[in-house]
Amino acid sequence: MKVTLLGTSSAAGSRERDNTYLLLEHDQDAWMIDVGGNPLGKLKQAGMPLDRIRGVILTHFHIDHIFGLPSLLWGMWLGGRQEALTVYCDAGHAAQLQQILASYRTSEWPIGFAIDIRTFDWTKPSTLFAQGELSVSVFPSLHVGATVGVRAAVSERVLVYSADTRPNEWIAAQQRIDVLVHEATAARGAISVHTSLEQLVRFYPLERIGRVVAVHLTDDEPYGDVLAECEARVRERIALGADLMSFPV
Ligand SMILES: [Zn+2]
Ligand SMILES: [Zn+2]
Repeated sequence: MKVTLLGTSSAAGSRERDNTYLLLEHDQDAWMIDVGGNPLGKLKQAGMPLDRIRGVILTHFHIDHIFGLPSLLWGMWLGGRQEALTVYCDAGHAAQLQQILASYRTSEWPIGFAIDIRTFDWTKPSTLFAQGELSVSVFPSLHVGATVGVRAAVSERVLVYSADTRPNEWIAAQQRIDVLVHEATAARGAISVHTSLEQLVRFYPLERIGRVVAVHLTDDEPYGDVLAECEARVRERIALGADLMSFPV
């Protein structure tokens, strides 16, 4: 499996980053986790044709995580897509998603593909789908109401994406994580409903996590200073995410 960071900014926006969203690939198939920023441009830069995208997983309905969805759909329509696109969201937001689509009048576009909305109960871990060796599930985040993180596994290899969250015991309790993509909205301190890089380093059992990539970053925060203060064995496991950074899991 392969992950590409399509955006890495916190909600405040950034001079150089799109809002945080990810691309997950396995074999010839791909899924997006949230849709912020400039999805059509970023997918082109990542070399990902739209017709390889099978679905979109929405972690929560804060605007920085969903506002690119209409643009993505518009691009798929322009590209003549025929295959249905599955959009996963928590059951409590399905009506809002329908309203968003209705406000963009997607039903009036001469659209050739179905938008298949599938819901999950965000309050407990649940499997979204399994395809070949790949299995993708969600788990509750500690943010503002309905928010999930994403776990993707191919045989033994495990990716966990925290989504927006306070430090999360569910993640810390996992026996195996090869790559943890975790938010770090600030560099230091305890911040409401989010995690700082300093908390991330202290809270998680990094000796059990192969690699940590920090996303949802805020401009001008002293992330480098926090990393510089870490022991070398910790620092070498942590990378600050950048748009279009990609890595195998
Ligand atoms: Zn956010
Ligand atoms: Zn949020």
